[in-house]
Amino acid sequence: QNKVCVVTGGANGIGLCLVNEFAKKGSKVAFIDIDKKAGEKALVELKATGAEGLFFCGDIAEKSTLEEFASKVIEAYGGIDYLINNACISRKGIITGCQYDDFNYVLKVGVTAPYMLAKLFLDYFNKGGAIVNISSTRATMSQVDTESYTAAKGGISALTHALAISLAGKIRVNSVSPGWIDVSANYDKDYTAKHSDADKKQHPVNRVGEPLDIAKTVMFLCHEDNGFISGENITVDGGMTKQMIYSGDYGWEYKL
Ligand code: NAD
Repeated sequence: QNKVCVVTGGANGIGLCLVNEFAKKGSKVAFIDIDKKAGEKALVELKATGAEGLFFCGDIAEKSTLEEFASKVIEAYGGIDYLINNACISRKGIITGCQYDDFNYVLKVGVTAPYMLAKLFLDYFNKGGAIVNISSTRATMSQVDTESYTAAKGGISALTHALAISLAGKIRVNSVSPGWIDVSANYDKDYTAKHSDADKKQHPVNRVGEPLDIAKTVMFLCHEDNGFISGENITVDGGMTKQMIYSGDYGWEYKL
């Protein structure tokens, strides 16, 4: 309560859920997003609940945008408690011809921006501050043609333990690795209707994830009660990556 929380990519998906959940707990939430329309809508809806927040429209791949955003947040709130590096994108990979600039752009959004924001806010963290980076189960496993995104996720996972050590005693730094999260759950109560039994069953918990699954874990990591956790990653994937698959066993079939 009475905390200041910064979220990147807060206009849609998991980021939007983070913005709303932190606001519900009484935090002032400053969020940045490249999607102006969705960001403005999210801010209006947040303020309608009586919560306090700030939306900054911009591309986090740009150094000047990050600097301007950080100044605005510090000017508005004086300091921050939590930084949630959530925004990321994919520009695919080597099969479909992800180019030099595409690859670098994804790294800027997914790795450089989280680093720079940590640096820009470094002297403005209140006591008990925490950074949570949103990585992915793809940091440690891959599908075909995903090099840009997968490399960014490997990068943010490694950045997490590096920052946890550099900022030891001042800011705890952890990450969350989501599996399959259906972001339509933010606005569609019946979102599970479009999941097949196979979609559900490939998760040991028998369902696809929703943004709230991630938001709850991020808030757990931020909470001072969990102040002994730093440099850690929590996978939130319904057990999907713990499922061992052999074609022909237990109904699994590899279709050639
Ligand atoms: P999303 O696409 O629904 O939302 C991402 C938000 O980030 C959007 O509002 C987008 O406008 C914003 N954004 C993208 N590029 C930006 C930029 N350059 N500058 C500013 N804002 C930018 O994505 P999501 O599914 O909610 O994913 C959120 C995070 O969770 C990402 O890091 C993603 O890699 C991770 N993740 C998601 C899933 C999933 O299944 N949804 C799984 C694993 C990891």
